[in-house]
Amino acid sequence: MARYRLRPSLTPQPGEGRNWVIADPMLSRAVRLGEADARLARALVAGGSVASLAKSAGLNQAETSARLTGLARLYLLDGRRSRDRIALQAEKTAFSQALGLGTADQPIEWPRGLDPPRHGCIGTGGCCGATFLGPLNEADVARVAGLAFAGGPQHRPGDVVLEQVTVAGRVHTGMRRDDSGRCVAQRTDRLCGVHADHGAPVKPMVCRQFPLRMYRSPRGVHVSLLLACDGYEQARDQGEPWPQREAEVRALLAEGASLPRVTLPLEWSAGLPVPEAAWWLLRDELYALEDTSDAWVWLAAVVRHVGLAVAEREAACQEGDDIVWRPACHGLDAFLQQPLAYLDFDAAAKHADALREAACSSLPGEAARLRNLARGLDFLRSGRSLRPGGGLVAEPAAKRHLIDIVANDLALQVALGQLDAGLGALTRRLVLAESIACALAADDHRDHVTGADTTRALHVVARSDAECSKLAILPQ
Ligand code: SF4
Repeated sequence: MARYRLRPSLTPQPGEGRNWVIADPMLSRAVRLGEADARLARALVAGGSVASLAKSAGLNQAETSARLTGLARLYLLDGRRSRDRIALQAEKTAFSQALGLGTADQPIEWPRGLDPPRHGCIGTGGCCGATFLGPLNEADVARVAGLAFAGGPQHRPGDVVLEQVTVAGRVHTGMRRDDSGRCVAQRTDRLCGVHADHGAPVKPMVCRQFPLRMYRSPRGVHVSLLLACDGYEQARDQGEPWPQREAEVRALLAEGASLPRVTLPLEWSAGLPVPEAAWWLLRDELYALEDTSDAWVWLAAVVRHVGLAVAEREAACQEGDDIVWRPACHGLDAFLQQPLAYLDFDAAAKHADALREAACSSLPGEAARLRNLARGLDFLRSGRSLRPGGGLVAEPAAKRHLIDIVANDLALQVALGQLDAGLGALTRRLVLAESIACALAADDHRDHVTGADTTRALHVVARSDAECSKLAILPQ
């Protein structure tokens, strides 16, 4: 029978109100606990089996097991998990110190894959009518706020050119959109008035950076694409080989391009820390699985490979049988084999209705995006798809674009959070992009999906992270 105990150096202390606090200098933090968790933590100082802990804490065994799992995920229980996490604190500290040295000499990690996603701007101007044209940084705001330029048809000299939106309680500033949802600076010829009148360097950084997406890790600066260009089909062919863009990328970095950083230590699942070297190794294995003909086949192989690696690591870390572990990618493998058997049809229908309702009170460009998302969910439920027996076929460019979703986003998944949750997000993006592209073809009475269909679908999905993250259509 497994025995559990708090890490020896930790002691719960009364905090404010009924809360308790555990000071944890080894991990440079203080953990706040509610009443029931604190009773269990106090019982864990002496340690015991789940039955004895349940008795001491006044909980039933199922609740004790669930709360023990929560405390384990916070690295509070004695065992290999917390020892590994403490050992990785040095990695975290070294990365924080390296961040202070800036990015000038950092190596650049280019997009990966056998034929990595590429992009060369063809000037469609489609990117200037997004959900939100920002965020602008402080320097952008200071430079652009009072700027005079010849802009779109609704713009008059002296008009306000910025707008603010609140996301999750935080206020962000972007370029103001007119009644049609276009940037007020975009002229009727679709070119940028700020660029035309003042030069490219005066544009907000987010405009200059689009569609490059970058983040910083101990390996350097990682570059990928925001697959939201509505000319992607042609822009992909125009893209230079990545290493030829080094001067451009370094100039953007020097001028303050947005560069979020990974949070160390990396976790493959909540409470499952890994050294960064383990992620690079696994990442290389996942790219080695690339299937050049089918994005689903590649993603299914990735999910299986990650599932095994994560399960093995969890088994090595688990404090005892009472720790209940279920990774966020649980069920994805089965879903990717037989989506219709696992799709939550009711949830998909409700999401589609909610999206159509939201479209009724949105600006035109945004309404079109929401309706396309809803149409994709409807099509998903119809059972028609690019999969064997699904009745539609993809032209080579369309296949390539779907593979680009996996190639582009796979390297990013740990940077954005835990690997298992990231694979869920990647699966939702692929499913929706394919469904939207198929719906566009079907609406046009075609059974073949073109690169133009997938380009439109990528544009919608890449701008719909907020909605996609709420789509509970996959196995839970
Ligand atoms: S400022 Fe220029 S580049 Fe940026 S969104 Fe507006 S029109 Fe487009």
